Amino acid sequence: MKSRPDYDVVIVGGGPAGSTAAYLLGEAGHRVALLEKRTYPRDKVCGGCLSQKSVRFLDRVFRLPVSALRHEGLLDFAGTGYALYIGSSRILAEDLAEPVYFTRRECYDAHLARMAAQAGAEVHTGAEVAAVDHARRTVTTSDGDRYAARVLIGADGIHSRVRRSLPEGVVDQKRWRKNLGWALELAIPRKEAEALANGNGPIRLDDNLATPHLIFAACRWGYGWVFPNRETIVVGIGGLLRVNGKDLPERFEEFLKTIGLSAFTGRKPAGYPLPLGNYIPSPAHEGAVLVGDAGGFASPLLGEGIFYAHRTAELAAHAVDRHLTCAAPLAVTYTTLLRRRLIPELQAETALRDFLHGCLDARMHVPLRVFMKATSNRVVDAVQGSRSFRGFRRDDDLHSAVW
Ligand SMILES: Cc1cc2nc3c(=O)[nH]c(=O)nc-3n(C[C@H](O)[C@H](O)[C@H](O)COP(=O)(O)OP(=O)(O)OC[C@H]3O[C@@H](n4cnc5c(N)ncnc54)[C@H](O)[C@@H]3O)c2cc1C
Repeated sequence: MKSRPDYDVVIVGGGPAGSTAAYLLGEAGHRVALLEKRTYPRDKVCGGCLSQKSVRFLDRVFRLPVSALRHEGLLDFAGTGYALYIGSSRILAEDLAEPVYFTRRECYDAHLARMAAQAGAEVHTGAEVAAVDHARRTVTTSDGDRYAARVLIGADGIHSRVRRSLPEGVVDQKRWRKNLGWALELAIPRKEAEALANGNGPIRLDDNLATPHLIFAACRWGYGWVFPNRETIVVGIGGLLRVNGKDLPERFEEFLKTIGLSAFTGRKPAGYPLPLGNYIPSPAHEGAVLVGDAGGFASPLLGEGIFYAHRTAELAAHAVDRHLTCAAPLAVTYTTLLRRRLIPELQAETALRDFLHGCLDARMHVPLRVFMKATSNRVVDAVQGSRSFRGFRRDDDLHSAVW
């Protein structure tokens, strides 16, 4: 066993959450080790959709405006409109005031980890944390290396080992399971999709496969998506695990047929869990905090998690900095920030999700259609982050600096 020198902060996991925390704490002059079990570039099952929420975050925190994101090759495709369906009925097809972008996670995550290293964090790849002692604030990798720190940040994704090391009371397991999602996704090479899309399904995708599609009722308490990328078309469905269970593969095949891609029903999609409202309200214990998927932070309606990974990491990094520099209580500072800046938003979005899927379960499609048409602009603004889900008012809680 090799014992590494002590750090101020050890961060487990080098996705968007881990790299954001490492970047901010490195910039603030703390001694940071980021431990990532894989080596970059590494992929992650993800649609790679970056709403304007994420775009604004990247500009404000990483100083990466859209021009820089393009220059670095981090924006693969821009969606300038969208189409929304319930089942096979088209509800809306509109232009977007500001585009949504699509990124390739292997590039995106590698770039942010590089920026964390440039900010002074030590990035250790191929370092899989196998044991966590949160009371002593030490982690041990599968190679036997031991890292000790004053604070541990669990940014190790939905299967988080750091989360599983915390005492039982921290995570309400019933609530976690109730709101845990599961998704299936397939990336189809664009050329094949263009050649084999038959237009025979009830939903006809646009000819140049350039419009993001969201299809509610493709599965229960979730939706299906078609996300255009430059070289691929990413097709997926995801919803709450407890109501979809084993039916999801069958629903995925149905979904492919619905959108005229029945030629691909034989291909095996990648399956992966995702948070859909199972965020942990107080994801902290003694010297350990959870960020991103590890803490269940993602949009309860759409499962968009990249922004929430970044934002929770920013809030956590601030709490860690206050703890290290002024002895502010770590768990209290982080949870207070979450309660003020993020959780009200997630609660309001959960209420909208419950209303929407409650209507679908009750087969109240007509009133739902009327509601969607009447509110679409405001819901799009809330998804893009220029309005709050709380009464759709203009709100800056998601974007205001905490540093
Ligand atoms: C099918 C699907 C589609 C999605 N589409 C979108 C989308 O279009 N837009 C969007 O915003 N979100 C989307 N999401 C959600 C998004 O992918 C996640 O919310 C986001 O990746 C969370 O970031 P994170 O940094 O918390 O975790 P992750 O990105 O999962 O990163 C965790 C990191 O920790 C590492 N790690 C894990 N265990 C250990 C260990 N023991 N030791 C060391 N390292 C470890 C992993 O290798 C990984 O690099 C989607 C999710 C799914 C499943």
